[in-house]
Amino acid sequence: MLTASFVSGRSVVKWSDDVIPFVDLKAQFDVLENEIHAGIDRVLHHGRFVLGPEVVELEQRLAQYVGVRHAVACSSGTDALLLALMAKNVGPGDAVFTTPFTFVATAEAIALLGAVPVFVDIDPVTFNLDPAQLESAVEAVIKGDKGLYPIPQQAWNGRLQVKGIIAVDLFGLPADYDRINAIASRYDLFVIEDSAQSFGAEYRGRKSGSLAEIAATSFFPAKPLGCYGDGGAVFTDEDELADVLMSLKMHGQGADRYSHIRIGMNARLDTLQAAILLAKLKVFDNELERRRQIAQQYNDSFRELGGDLRIPRISPHCKSAWAQYSLLFSKRDAVRDELKRSQVPSAIYYPTPLHMQRAFENLGYRQGDLPAAEQCSTEIFSIPMHPYLEQDHIMMIVSAVKNGVQRAQG
Ligand SMILES: *Cc1c(COP(=O)(O)O)cnc(C)c1O
Repeated sequence: MLTASFVSGRSVVKWSDDVIPFVDLKAQFDVLENEIHAGIDRVLHHGRFVLGPEVVELEQRLAQYVGVRHAVACSSGTDALLLALMAKNVGPGDAVFTTPFTFVATAEAIALLGAVPVFVDIDPVTFNLDPAQLESAVEAVIKGDKGLYPIPQQAWNGRLQVKGIIAVDLFGLPADYDRINAIASRYDLFVIEDSAQSFGAEYRGRKSGSLAEIAATSFFPAKPLGCYGDGGAVFTDEDELADVLMSLKMHGQGADRYSHIRIGMNARLDTLQAAILLAKLKVFDNELERRRQIAQQYNDSFRELGGDLRIPRISPHCKSAWAQYSLLFSKRDAVRDELKRSQVPSAIYYPTPLHMQRAFENLGYRQGDLPAAEQCSTEIFSIPMHPYLEQDHIMMIVSAVKNGVQRAQG
């Protein structure tokens, strides 16, 4: 097969042989090349590869962008979640509520600390944790009563203490924080916003990263704001928490480098990655705007199809960061076959909800426990979404989806 670079006349992310790249980091680099080279060059010259000045500047800019007092740059989104949970003293015997319809890292961080993830089903329209079910799940764990809500076997008979919630802003759309934070304060639970996919999104005029007591985001290359490797950040308004997070990411460091006042990690962000992120931040709002235009164009084109195809619905008080554009369709696989024939890449986020993953089989969940997440995982698919999609490619994608849907509907 012809390589993508040959067909499109310029090189694209090489993990795909499709004509249209799913995410086009090369096109972004073409725009930012000088800026990025200059940033990397500065770091090579000053030589402070760990905790250099670019890291400090990035933390200031991120905090300013998000609208919180503190941003703590770190080594990945997964480590950002771990740091946030560690700062909240999560450990064995604790229950932390989260969604089963997310990337594994969300629940993995909970389990790594010896705590138990308790999955709460999603709202099938937003794909985010359903606040209406959160309270039942909390009551079920407090009472240890699996008749109230499906809970992990570790929580039967009231053996776990309810501790906190990790809400995820899936595909870039913020969860419903007014309701989640209200339930949390009633039960004295912390809330962590997993904003790995939603940097730049908004909820009631506030930016993603500021919607809960702590937020964790990721700068993995394919996320809305990505570096050239692994990176992440934790956000908070609380000075004390920020101090603890900063210490935790540097081996639990105290007042000086070789005093250690808690067990921590090596979870720093490299200075080179900070320099790259500083360059990318300059065009980030333009990129967001472009993602929103493309989402609008997709919506307008697919709405008329009606029938069984369900397009993303964003409530008026939210702005998505459009990390993914995901559709639901009962005969998804037929549509994806058509896309493949037209050389349009597609992906499934996520084919198996976390409560059905082998890694979590010790929790004792059964098929049918969280039906909305299970149903979505059989019907969902995502089409290319990135700010450098060209108009002719958008048209190709739209017509391939339309053809696929119309054929499948007969
Ligand atoms: C990507 C992602 C993470 C993990 O981020 P990494 O930087 O890859 O460790 C966590 N949660 C969600 C929802 C993600 O999409």
